[in-house]
Amino acid sequence: MKKIEFIGKAAVIRQHIPQNVIEFPRSLVHFHTYGLLTPFFVGLREGRLMATRCKNPKCSEKRMWIPPRAHCPDCYELMEWEEVPQPVIGTIYAYTQVVYAGIGMELTTPYWQIDVELPDCATAPKSYLLYGTPRIGIKVKAVFRTEYPTNTVLDYCWAPYDEE
Ligand SMILES: [Zn+2]
Repeated sequence: MKKIEFIGKAAVIRQHIPQNVIEFPRSLVHFHTYGLLTPFFVGLREGRLMATRCKNPKCSEKRMWIPPRAHCPDCYELMEWEEVPQPVIGTIYAYTQVVYAGIGMELTTPYWQIDVELPDCATAPKSYLLYGTPRIGIKVKAVFRTEYPTNTVLDYCWAPYDEE
């Protein structure tokens, strides 16, 4: 007759006194869908910055959105995708130094977080400066992590443009 066997690993006892405490490691995998925003992330790993734009002729907002919105925040219509022409050059609108990054920001610290103004863009996308020191008003160029992409928004950032 086949006996039932324990197939796990024995728990490690951390302490005995005053009571037993064992290590009980647990992990979970979170499945996160990019849904209708998938083209943005596909573009990043291919070295392209993808934006959405509302094509509803009755909508007052004609500029593009980065990060993209699937639906127009102004009229709720489904937006259309377009690629921002290369090279993607923006202007630093604001910046701050991040010393203690939050969970998910897998970057060495400190780093410069920058908000970048782009022509014809309704938003000032937030990302980080790859190197150098930011100043409000200086030009930056989008840089893409196409080698070893993270498949997250960290696959693009900015580098000073004047230094090229
Ligand atoms: Zn709209």
